[in-house]
Amino acid sequence: MSSNVSRSPSLHRIGKNTRAQQPPIVRLLNLTKRYEEGAVSHAILHTVNAEMLEGDFVVLLGKSGSGKSTLLNLIGGIDVPSDGEIWVRDTCLTRLNEHALTLFRRDNIGFIFQFFNLIPTLTVLENITLPYELRGRGRREGEKAARALLDRVKLADRANTYPDRLSGGEQQRVALARALVHEPQLILADEPTGNLDEETGETVLALLLELTRDMGKTLIMATHNPEVVAYADVIYHIHEGKLVSEQDSAIATDATSTSARG
Ligand code: ADP
Ligand code: MG
Repeated sequence: MSSNVSRSPSLHRIGKNTRAQQPPIVRLLNLTKRYEEGAVSHAILHTVNAEMLEGDFVVLLGKSGSGKSTLLNLIGGIDVPSDGEIWVRDTCLTRLNEHALTLFRRDNIGFIFQFFNLIPTLTVLENITLPYELRGRGRREGEKAARALLDRVKLADRANTYPDRLSGGEQQRVALARALVHEPQLILADEPTGNLDEETGETVLALLLELTRDMGKTLIMATHNPEVVAYADVIYHIHEGKLVSEQDSAIATDATSTSARG
């Protein structure tokens, strides 16, 4: 099973040459998500099976409407599947009631959205501190952690500003800090550079990768940005309800020399 499929340069840079030893952090077992519209039932994800490993940077690709956001929302406990199981480490999300799922989210997940989703009536510092406080920890410590992260995203001087005074790139940098402040196990990013110009997107992406790597976090990102692929440890394509890893498709292509795709 140790096929040496050529991986992104980031692997060497972060020195992750022992991927086989990384335990899975996310396991999807026969995961199915259907939406009912009138009499028609539409399976967005259909008996998906996959494992994502601790510390990896996992990229989800797929055209608009393929189910990238749906999958992230399922893994993050925002949405519930129609069938199958989702495990995050030792927790089976599909066995949790709504209250337990909310607590799970607060403790374990950091979300980053395309449109930042900062709370307009809170200052930058308050926005970042909020997840820490929701996790039941003290405000003083929360502010300390928030200020340290604000420094990392180079916005230390904007702590008392409100989000609407910030540019898109700055708002997303605040959102990165907010996603990480409570030290969640899993960072889920849904097209985090989708609403930014190219240069700003690159800055945000570099910061996000640097922070998640330094903190040893697992990052799962849905994106259209082809530049991201170069940094990924694992790339999945969502296509017609299935999740296909680039490694699987490479092996499948190798195995069938008569493959129509050549
Ligand atoms: P992506 O993020 O890849 O663009 P989404 O996960 O947002 O795709 O959506 C996948 C599909 O599910 C789309 O066809 C979308 O229209 C459909 N969908 C999403 N939410 C709902 C819903 N609440 N009811 C019905 N269909 C939905
Ligand atoms: Mg989406």
